[in-house]
Amino acid sequence: MVDQELLSLLICPNCRGEVEYREEQQVVACTGKCRYVYPVVKGIPHMLVAEATKS
Ligand SMILES: [Zn+2]
Repeated sequence: MVDQELLSLLICPNCRGEVEYREEQQVVACTGKCRYVYPVVKGIPHMLVAEATKS
């Protein structure tokens, strides 16, 4: 689980777009321009471009 309040504060560090949590994949995905996918480790989204993968 990722805290909803935390999620509402998150933005994509690459394009500053909005992000969405995908619980079944345990990732936070950018829904803005870049579509980067950030890993969630133990409930903590890692919003780092260095750890992102492209979807
Ligand atoms: Zn983005």
